[in-house]
Amino acid sequence: MSENKGVLVYCESAGGKLTTTATELLGAGSRLAKASGEELNAVLIGSGVSGLAQEAIAYGAQKVYVVEEPLLKDYSTEPYLMALEEIVRQVAPEIILLGQTATGRDLAPWLAFHLNTGATMDCIALEIDPGSKRLLMTRPVYGGNAQAVQVCEFNPQIATVRTKAMAPLAKDSTRQGQVIKVVAEIDPAAIKTRVIERKLEAAAGVKLEEARVVVSGGRGMGSTDGFKQLAEIAGVLKGAVGATRPPCDKKWVADTQQIGLTGKVVSPDLYIAVGLSGASQHVSGFSSAKVIVAINKDPEANIFKVAHYGIVADWKAVLPAFTAELKEVAG
Ligand SMILES: Cc1cc2nc3c(=O)[nH]c(=O)nc-3n(C[C@H](O)[C@H](O)[C@H](O)COP(=O)(O)OP(=O)(O)OC[C@H]3O[C@@H](n4cnc5c(N)ncnc54)[C@H](O)[C@@H]3O)c2cc1C
Repeated sequence: MSENKGVLVYCESAGGKLTTTATELLGAGSRLAKASGEELNAVLIGSGVSGLAQEAIAYGAQKVYVVEEPLLKDYSTEPYLMALEEIVRQVAPEIILLGQTATGRDLAPWLAFHLNTGATMDCIALEIDPGSKRLLMTRPVYGGNAQAVQVCEFNPQIATVRTKAMAPLAKDSTRQGQVIKVVAEIDPAAIKTRVIERKLEAAAGVKLEEARVVVSGGRGMGSTDGFKQLAEIAGVLKGAVGATRPPCDKKWVADTQQIGLTGKVVSPDLYIAVGLSGASQHVSGFSSAKVIVAINKDPEANIFKVAHYGIVADWKAVLPAFTAELKEVAG
């Protein structure tokens, strides 16, 4: 256990840039590395990712390990796991951070299993225990009604971190670091899945996971038209529209807009919940939102237990005036 040292951040990229989650992880990793007097290192895996190493350094990484390989053009579990495991075995970090993203949610448990350690998923706070020097990993439990602080007794300690839970460091392009190219032994025969087609989702505006304002609707919206009103509010507040499961099942909105246990996890500054009851499976997807506003005609609805501000009313009576007022305030 004592041989493992430092923090290793698995950086994801999209559209030729590091994702915001990656920069946030580097920020969190750098604070942990400082607290334990160790190095912060980063990993980039893929095809055409070498150019992002300097960006990772600008966001705080001291060394960046790069696995550049055509077989890694598209994400699939087996080759990415092979590449990451190879680096982890070489670097022997004490802490590994990944995003609570589709990729991180897939890779972290596999990696933990291969390394005979544990993975703590969906963390919203991380700190080094001053006494034991172990990583204290805080995550929401019971559908966001409580928080658990977990400690892993084995190394490496692996955590996935919720998007927007951590602050990135200010980008500093003058920061110096080392880029290390790693050749991973990837056996093509071990790759069991292959991407045969990629369909880009036509999405306008802000990405749901990164939005500072999320306006969500539930079954009570009644139709696609109800969601158009939510889209108008989201447009005024430069936010994104989310949903509970029923509107996705009914195809009023895209499946990708579902928030919750089996959907996306968001951490906006403002979450406006309209015509949804506040089932725990939904609340777990936004429990770290800073301010929650609920509109529901049922005063007993569970959403009022988690909301900071509540309006007991039929949304049809409230939203037009609410939207008009927002437009006026937004100028
Ligand atoms: C394993 C599992 C995983 C799940 N994962 C998820 C998940 O990821 N995300 C998720 O959302 N759900 C998930 N669910 C489903 C979840 O349990 C709830 O069924 C769902 O969240 C309820 O959605 P809702 O609040 O829109 O609907 P309802 O519970 O039916 O609530 C509708 C609300 O709208 C209000 N309302 C109706 N009309 C109006 C009106 N005109 N004005 C104002 N208010 C009105 C009602 O008072 C009511 O409170 C999961 C369930 C299971 C079992």
